[in-house]
Amino acid sequence: MAVRLAKMSLLTVADLIYYFPRTWEDRSKFSTISELSPNGQKYTLKARLIDISTFRSPKRGMMLTQGTLEDATGSIAVIWFNQPYLKTSLKVGQEYFLTGRVERNQKGLSLIAPEIESAEGTPTHSGRIIPIYPESSDVSTKMLRRYLANLIGVIRDFPEIVPEQVLDKYDLMPLASALESIHFPNTIEEAMASKDRLAFDEFLATQLAVQSMKRFIATAITTPIIQNLDTEVEAVKHILESLPFTLTPHQKKALWEILQDLTESRPMNRLLEGDVGSGKTIVAAITMMIAARQGFQSALMVPTEVLALQHYYNLEPFFKKFDISTSLHTNAYKLGYPQSDIVIGTHALIQEGVEFKNLGLVVVDEQHRFGVRQREALKSKGNTPHFLSMTATPIPRSLTLTVFGDLDLSVIAGKPEDRKPIFTQVVTDTTKHFAYTKISEEIELGHQAYVVTPLISDSFRLQTKSAETEFKNMQVVFPTARIGLLHGRMKSTDKARTMEEFKNGELDILVATTVIEVGVNVPNATVMLIEGAERYGLAQLHQLRGRVGRAADQSYCFVCPVTQDPETMERLEAFSKTLDGFKLAEMDLKLRGPGSLFGNVQSGFLQYKLADFTDTKKIKMAADAAIDILNLDPTLKSFPVLKERVNLEDITTHTE
Ligand code: ADP
Ligand code: MG
Repeated sequence: MAVRLAKMSLLTVADLIYYFPRTWEDRSKFSTISELSPNGQKYTLKARLIDISTFRSPKRGMMLTQGTLEDATGSIAVIWFNQPYLKTSLKVGQEYFLTGRVERNQKGLSLIAPEIESAEGTPTHSGRIIPIYPESSDVSTKMLRRYLANLIGVIRDFPEIVPEQVLDKYDLMPLASALESIHFPNTIEEAMASKDRLAFDEFLATQLAVQSMKRFIATAITTPIIQNLDTEVEAVKHILESLPFTLTPHQKKALWEILQDLTESRPMNRLLEGDVGSGKTIVAAITMMIAARQGFQSALMVPTEVLALQHYYNLEPFFKKFDISTSLHTNAYKLGYPQSDIVIGTHALIQEGVEFKNLGLVVVDEQHRFGVRQREALKSKGNTPHFLSMTATPIPRSLTLTVFGDLDLSVIAGKPEDRKPIFTQVVTDTTKHFAYTKISEEIELGHQAYVVTPLISDSFRLQTKSAETEFKNMQVVFPTARIGLLHGRMKSTDKARTMEEFKNGELDILVATTVIEVGVNVPNATVMLIEGAERYGLAQLHQLRGRVGRAADQSYCFVCPVTQDPETMERLEAFSKTLDGFKLAEMDLKLRGPGSLFGNVQSGFLQYKLADFTDTKKIKMAADAAIDILNLDPTLKSFPVLKERVNLEDITTHTE
């Protein structure tokens, strides 16, 4: 038996106690036989077995076990299918509890395949609100009910994990009661209340991790970058005058929040969140320029080489005008002097232990989390640098509080005013000519196009589009167009060359995998066709779509699924109708869970059994409770169970 339970990862008594019912069934009310009716509803009754026999059904060869039940009000037939052992295990003349539905046939009413247990002693499967557990082929819900019934003593003595004053302050049900009533509730309301407490515990574990990370960072001391805010504000104005556009009010506000952080001797720990194309780069760039003015080096870290190159080629000339030097550091590329004012690179910056020179600011672009370890690795001369994370994933509020709960938040809402809404349309293989026509029209106008596919090469296993095949296909469809191919398996130098050619307008169409998803900025690209679109989450599609519409021109996005089941079509239609990244992210979160927004590694610590990760109110409460607990005991030494659950490792090692 232990083996079967182990297969379900139920290794300890606590694992079993924390194996929660999926739902409950009210079997607390007994009916008499005279009350039974064939209305589809389940009844529970207590009756005596009068006779029982087993025979093979003449029609389908099934083993049928048939019997008669009786109580003070009458009698009824009962039938079971393919359970011949019942004939020997049940005893005629004994009383049983039974739960099942009633049907009518030629001979009258019968109870159909009811659950049955002896009425001697306390019943486990009837006479109360019955938990229904998720079953496996090895372990049935009935077995689980029996095990848990045997553990009732352990459950009642289960030690509380939350300190008394926190229980009182947040009016929480005691843990032992919650565990008892999730498995053995007296009423459905009680079951729900216990679920509430246990869900709270799940949020609490996340919040303890997030809040202790926040505390950890808050205790760090660093050198303020800005000594005199007024002078730097003047410098910022001067930089802004050199730009071909004016910042939007949201960009200005974010920049202001960041500048204020830089006056503190506590390292900045801020998330800059803004939809794709909202203009985060310039905000980060100005921040780095201010750091450079004050003699601090900055590092801009990005997840991919393509993005590093792009930032380097865009920013280097701009910085140079202000006498600020820039270098590039990735696995494949090392350009410029590593101790320049601004270093742009990938994770190679950490892995290769670059010698920084008075590193004061680290900007992390398009990476979701940056753990304590990475921060430690970037400490320069014992000084913790200021941190600015940037993400284009619109993050629903509930997730900002969990995944990013340790960060201060600046949001750039909306996009620069000159942008037109991106026209989005769902096409299928039969209507794809709309997309092709638009692509050729746009090329004609001197614009450029992306064709995005889920795979690099055709796969026998996955029926969807590949970049290599679409690359050939595009050459047939657009014989005169200049077409490039970009994917993650290409050599770095080839990737860079292709990106450069596309950027310089030497290619009309770029066929690519999602390597272009993050951050790529080619404002002249105005049309995108996403093949195999059902393979992407809504937030990811939105990210992809954000590669077009990056200038004042009208842009277009076509999404083409390989399969057209109603669910896919509905999801893609929803995508075509909204340009609001937050709405799409929330839809994704509801439909597919946090993994759809951050990848599974990122959201690994959000694998809740009971908690609803969209429940902002409860998350806030758990955050407050976590702060209270950490105030009582910052290291959680006196709360070993909490400490073990928190698993600080988790939260400190997530990146990308
Ligand atoms: P993201 O937030 O997705 O990183 P970028 O920073 O790459 O977006 O900005 C997208 C484009 O918008 C860039 O070409 C940038 O120069 C331009 N841009 C940024 N801010 C403004 C603005 N206030 N007005 C007009 N264009 C802007
Ligand atoms: Mg960007």
